[in-house]
Amino acid sequence: AGLVVAVDGTSGSGKSSTSRGVADRLGLRYLDTGAMFRAMTWWMLERGVDVHDPAAVAARCGEPEIVSGTDPLGPTITVDGTDVEVAIRSDEVNAAVSPVSAVPEVRARLLALQRAVIAAETDRGGIVVEGRDIGSVVAPDAPVKVYLSADPAARAARRAAEQGGADVAATRASLLARDRIDSGRAAAPLVQADGAVHIDTTSATLEEVIGLVVSLVES
Ligand code: C5P
Repeated sequence: AGLVVAVDGTSGSGKSSTSRGVADRLGLRYLDTGAMFRAMTWWMLERGVDVHDPAAVAARCGEPEIVSGTDPLGPTITVDGTDVEVAIRSDEVNAAVSPVSAVPEVRARLLALQRAVIAAETDRGGIVVEGRDIGSVVAPDAPVKVYLSADPAARAARRAAEQGGADVAATRASLLARDRIDSGRAAAPLVQADGAVHIDTTSATLEEVIGLVVSLVES
């Protein structure tokens, strides 16, 4: 079987840039599981489902067809054939994604999709998978696991810059609120998985973090 690299961590810790860079350097595919939870959330909002009603979310979460591309240089995600790559990064989705992701039925549905992508890509060589529960739940047997963290100030500054100069204080509040729910939920909470190497990215450059993860894969 091919290689799986599990990359978990808090919002804004550098997971996406690191994961894509590692996949590109090593010729691996890439899966952003956060985008899948965001796509599910976008669909719930589109349909007017009350995202704070877990029973309502559970009842509908089998409906959307979510398809993720795995090119690290051009990730794609569609819901029922609609490209939602931009729409899933909105403030509305940011505010709703953690409550939707805490619903066990949502996690079970997306876990099956994630495992199918991972199985297909490991047959072809390997994949870097990023999220919150990759090393703990989705791919607990991954031979390389990393857990990224960074100071809230650094994370907020990065996310705000990514969003074209969004307000840093509001961005910080939004990502800390998501972290609180993601870490506190009963189903697959964000944790540093057994065997994961902790990397604090606060004062590291992206190239340094990518190099560190690549060296773990090659060791
Ligand atoms: O990684 P990203 O910030 O895009 O993830 C958005 C949200 O999706 C997280 O805050 C979390 O609520 C949820 N998520 C999750 N499990 C994953 C990936 C993301 O619950 N494996």
